[in-house]
Amino acid sequence: MSEPISIPNTLAAVQDHTRVFQDLIYVYPVISRRSRGLSIGINLNPDKRCNFDCVYCEVDRRTPGRAETVDLTQLRDELAWLIRYALEGGLATQPKFNEVPELTRLVRDIAFSGDGEPTMVPNFDECVRVAVEVKREFHLSDTKLVLISDSAGLDKGSVKRGLELMDANGGEFWCKLDAGTESYYKRVNRSYVKFERILANLLETGRARPIIIQTLFLKIDGTPMQADELAAYCGRLKDLVAGGAQIREVHAYTVARPTPEPWATKLTTAELETIASEVRRTTGLTVKTFD
Ligand code: SF4
Repeated sequence: MSEPISIPNTLAAVQDHTRVFQDLIYVYPVISRRSRGLSIGINLNPDKRCNFDCVYCEVDRRTPGRAETVDLTQLRDELAWLIRYALEGGLATQPKFNEVPELTRLVRDIAFSGDGEPTMVPNFDECVRVAVEVKREFHLSDTKLVLISDSAGLDKGSVKRGLELMDANGGEFWCKLDAGTESYYKRVNRSYVKFERILANLLETGRARPIIIQTLFLKIDGTPMQADELAAYCGRLKDLVAGGAQIREVHAYTVARPTPEPWATKLTTAELETIASEVRRTTGLTVKTFD
């Protein structure tokens, strides 16, 4: 692939991460800075199910979700339609993309993301298979298959099979870790899943293939993550590496859109950079920031 161009976060197509495009249920196009261009999202949770309840979640759960299960035939049809539409220049004519029409003809990745946690679907491996087949059909050999996950379901059988399929087809794994301690995890992610399970899943998944840790840093009641929590977070990363997990890089980002909790707010660029520097210094890992 050619070298990535710089994509400012002020573009409407970057700001607008809505997961509804025309009347499609499962797929949607976004310009993603972390993907460095066009990402076709696959929303496996149009029902908005998630095993986390993050204080910064942008998914509007006040309105009901749409489909409750994934219809694989429809998923295949929608994905093929949207890819063809992008490649033939249709997306470039859409108002949402009028600042970046040149980015819409290259599908940089197909990402399992959406309005909930993708690994909660019972047939995750079958969904991956559909994406692999459509990617092949369009000869998108350079297009990555990305999983954006909260890390809670990475130990499930169908998920592990899906991860292996992704490994063989340009898989990339963005796994959430927002905390260093159980108490902070409970405060920010508000999940019933034990923190230990998240850490065990990261270790097991990272031992099998390189992973990217994605961490959202924020202010709670006006205060960024405290030094002791940040030290614990860095300690978790070091433990993962010491245990054999391959952490390719850490993506550190902050709140981009209004949060459901008014006390959960965005860091300044300088605050995010300070935290990222500390993580780099303490862990020796590559840390990229996205503010
Ligand atoms: S894991 Fe993602 S979808 Fe689930 S609550 Fe957190 S931000 Fe929302």
